[in-house]
Amino acid sequence: MADADAGPSKPPVSKTPKATYTYGNKELDAPAYAEALKSAKARGSASWWSFFTVILTEGVVKLKCTICGEVLGAKNPSATAPNHLMKHSKAAEVLGRQVWHVRTVCWVLLCRQLGLDSWTLGSGTKDVGKAYAETV
Ligand SMILES: [Zn+2]
Repeated sequence: MADADAGPSKPPVSKTPKATYTYGNKELDAPAYAEALKSAKARGSASWWSFFTVILTEGVVKLKCTICGEVLGAKNPSATAPNHLMKHSKAAEVLGRQVWHVRTVCWVLLCRQLGLDSWTLGSGTKDVGKAYAETV
């Protein structure tokens, strides 16, 4: 009884490698991970969440920067997101802002949403704050 047709043994390869993500101590698939990140964002579990939205595209979870629109991988958001925001910190320095703080970006974002220049930062922040209060 020849059993020659078996051929070289191949390792079992799954045709559609599922992206899995580690969250806490759990391994989650992409939709579950996206939900977990969305609820982390909803809780405001980290300050940088203010600047990112969670997107699920073709079974892959990504973070989108609401400042520049860049899409980042979401495997390790607590490292990726602050690193990305540092780029904006550099940009803020170019604009002549000496002190970098997350709140500064927050103001820039706010000013942009209100259609104002980021140059209204500083002495104009109170007025921007008032304008914002009226919009919410
Ligand atoms: Zn960005």
